[in-house]
Amino acid sequence: MTQHLEFFTREMREFGDQARQFLEIGRRAGRFPTATAREGHQGGELEISVWCSNDYLGMGQNPSVLTAMKEAIDSFGAGSGGSRNIGGTNYYHVLLEQELAALHGKEAALLFTSGYTANDAALTVLAGRMPGTVVYSDQLNHASIIDGLRHSGVEKRIFRHNDVAHLEELMAADGDRPKIVIMESVYSMSGDIAPLAEIAEVAKRYRATTYIDEVHAVGMYGPEGAGIAAQQGIADRFTVVMGTLAKGFGTCGGYIAGPAAMIDAVRGFARGFIFTTSLPPAIAAGALAAVRHLRACDEERTRLRENAQLLHRLLTERRIPFVSPMSHIVSVFVGEDSTCRQASAMLLERYGIYVQAINAPSVREGEEILRVAPSATHTTADVEKFAEALEAIWQELGIARTEG
Ligand code: PLP
Repeated sequence: MTQHLEFFTREMREFGDQARQFLEIGRRAGRFPTATAREGHQGGELEISVWCSNDYLGMGQNPSVLTAMKEAIDSFGAGSGGSRNIGGTNYYHVLLEQELAALHGKEAALLFTSGYTANDAALTVLAGRMPGTVVYSDQLNHASIIDGLRHSGVEKRIFRHNDVAHLEELMAADGDRPKIVIMESVYSMSGDIAPLAEIAEVAKRYRATTYIDEVHAVGMYGPEGAGIAAQQGIADRFTVVMGTLAKGFGTCGGYIAGPAAMIDAVRGFARGFIFTTSLPPAIAAGALAAVRHLRACDEERTRLRENAQLLHRLLTERRIPFVSPMSHIVSVFVGEDSTCRQASAMLLERYGIYVQAINAPSVREGEEILRVAPSATHTTADVEKFAEALEAIWQELGIARTEG
């Protein structure tokens, strides 16, 4: 046995089994949020309702998306055949970049193979190339932002979550140095929304570039699904917007949109863009259909909002605590690791409801949550049944409720 094999065998034994057990599911196209889950190793299947998917709008099964993907496969085959600069730029990549730039009212857009890669690759260049730059990053920013900043080597300051006064204090201390402020719009684990207008105001005072991650907002919020900044009428105050095609747009891939010079710099210098095979044309075609659909139609957005508001109301009536009522991400607060896992297991076994328990490092220890994501495809009756199931579990496990 090599020393490394010995090390990892020991480490993984200590890490425990639970953290690495993934539920194997088949989301049923045309019937989502219904999915089937594999039961043990006997090959049996259990029908479940998924309550933790990021396919918030059900675009992963939208007929226009599926048709576009099938047609693209028939026309162009499976893979793209190369990196974007060496044989891997398909018509659909270019059309999708144009569509995304138009969605966000920016000069240009650039695709990546995931949202993670978009942040990592773009920030390496945008934060790393200009000498003297200082980055101000919200304390709860996603791992992909943190990694991009690490790879850029930039000097960074972390401001307390959503604390604009702290942000300003940090910026004031850095004089004339070139500045970039980075935040999410809807935070992925807490579901709260950044004070975007105030952040934009402070950034303007210090001539700072603003970079906004709208991963959990694009498709879902704002006119044509352009995100929270667009919903608030301040999209032009953010220099670069970053998004994913994997959540509201139901497929896969990530992007940035912004001024042509900055997008070009990322295209020219970002290793995570240059040195990897581009998205399969069928994925770009499906994402393009999803973006076009959601620019033209509010139906899915409206259903998602109604379901989220209903769930907020039903949980409030039952005094079941959740972190924020500001968005469709309803993080139900449990606050203890084993209870959180137990609640998740009971939901699945007794009610066929699948919600993943979220624990450290995704949230801090003692802040474990059930990250509930109602989707546009759940019915009103589904939401009501879900709240009833949660109530029964809260009762049985004696989980803390809100005061009052
Ligand atoms: N940014 C945020 C805020 C996220 O929550 C995520 C993923 O959940 C990403 C970026 C990465 O996006 P993707 O899943 O497309 O890689």
